[in-house]
Amino acid sequence: MNTSLFWFRRDLRLTDNPGLNAARGASDRVYAVFCEDELPRLNERQRSFVIACLGTLRTALGKQDATLTIAIGPCVDALVATARRLGATAVFSSRAYTRAEREIEANADKALAAAGIALRTFRGDVVHEPAAVAQLKQSPGEGYRVFPPFLAAWESLDVDVPSGETYPNGRDEQAGVLPADGTENSIAPGEAAASVTLEKFTTARAADYAVNAPYPGRDAASNLAPYLRFGCISPRIVHQAIARRMSWSWTLASERSSMGVFMHQLARRDFFIQLAHYAPEVHDEALQEKMRAFPWSNDPAMIDVWREGRTGYPLVDAAMRQLRTQGLVHQRAAICAASFCCFDLGLDWRVGRQVWMDQYLAADEALCDGNWQWLAGVGSDQAAYPRIYNPEKQARQFDAQAVYVRRWIPELKKLPSAAALAPWRVDHQHQIELGFFTPKQYPRPIVDHEKVAREFLARYRSFVSEPVRPER
Ligand SMILES: Cc1cc2nc3c(=O)[nH]c(=O)nc-3n(C[C@H](O)[C@H](O)[C@H](O)COP(=O)(O)OP(=O)(O)OC[C@H]3O[C@@H](n4cnc5c(N)ncnc54)[C@H](O)[C@@H]3O)c2cc1C
Repeated sequence: MNTSLFWFRRDLRLTDNPGLNAARGASDRVYAVFCEDELPRLNERQRSFVIACLGTLRTALGKQDATLTIAIGPCVDALVATARRLGATAVFSSRAYTRAEREIEANADKALAAAGIALRTFRGDVVHEPAAVAQLKQSPGEGYRVFPPFLAAWESLDVDVPSGETYPNGRDEQAGVLPADGTENSIAPGEAAASVTLEKFTTARAADYAVNAPYPGRDAASNLAPYLRFGCISPRIVHQAIARRMSWSWTLASERSSMGVFMHQLARRDFFIQLAHYAPEVHDEALQEKMRAFPWSNDPAMIDVWREGRTGYPLVDAAMRQLRTQGLVHQRAAICAASFCCFDLGLDWRVGRQVWMDQYLAADEALCDGNWQWLAGVGSDQAAYPRIYNPEKQARQFDAQAVYVRRWIPELKKLPSAAALAPWRVDHQHQIELGFFTPKQYPRPIVDHEKVAREFLARYRSFVSEPVRPER
């Protein structure tokens, strides 16, 4: 009998999982396995989410009389030992694209080969694999460094029809127990929850995505990021669901274009993943060489104030408090908070990146590093310049009714909208009545945005000796 393992990593699902399909096609018996050693690399929230996802996967497999083995010990050794114990001659898995995951894959490949077991990898969790897009370039070995040509190539490729549900069929009597975890997550785990989230988005939000998603108070984005991060849903399934709606003749042109904006976000995800694949140095240093020696600050007091959401700028603080409380952040608010970190406080973008990696439920090395480099103006894009956003203007533009700010900053709940967005502008008598700017209440702005932004630009200008774009 031909036996293999399917090694679940960041593809915790049974539908449209090419490696799992291939394993079933090539073997009589397929055992499902997850290496517990892959958990410590994740942040606490992610570990708890993954354990809960593994629980839902195990239940689904149990209904088919199959099991999910939790392999204990250093990942590569545990994989080899499990393959030997179960008599597998091949291990199937989804291809990894980020450096840390590729290293594990390469080590597993070597160790399995030494044991006479083949490692076979298949398309990972992207709409189009990095190499499939890069082969449209004149120098395909390098991948794309800028988004617009990547997007054009990405859009020109056909997307295969996603495959249906496939089950491993092996029953391991020594499958082991799931690691214990008591942390509560803000979103439901697993493949079924991911499908419900997609369905809700496609039916209720996708048609107005471009109009509503930039406003943090409107809850208009898909909320798919954590599910995509751990592969509870395939990006091709998401693509297919939106493409189908775009193709309906009764879809309005405005709705089609709104859904097109969402598709660009899926492409941006693939873009940063392929950037990490072809330029793994994105994880350590600025892709723009001239910015590598820029004198960023690492002031611990400023880092604490920013991380705790006590800068005195409500939109920035609301983003940081949402991140700390929920492990999620609205994209526009995230951009303002990240901009404030780098340019108002002058903190190293890697400081901000680390806070995201430690607290964000969907934290992903490729997406996190790519976004932080883009924002700090040190990345690979053509128009790399400091993206300085005025936190007060952004709050007035994107949260005019202060819905988001009030949701995350209870100290501001009693204030009328305009005052909640800029409490330091409330008249002095009101400030006294509300007990404002006392140690227990909401803080005064820690810096004067206009002043520090000008100072940063002067530092930047003299460092790069080039004209820079004006602030937004
Ligand atoms: C400083 C910073 C750091 C970030 N770090 C991460 C990260 O570690 N992991 C992560 O998943 N996203 C990251 N993002 C991108 C973004 O904030 C989230 O993907 C998005 O807000 C998640 O919400 P959603 O699923 O409702 O997104 P939607 O707006 O519904 O978008 C749909 C999907 O498109 C992809 N997407 C959207 N925006 C981006 C983007 N800017 N870059 C790459 N993919 C995108 C995501 O997979 C997202 O789930 C970061 C953004 C910033 C500004």
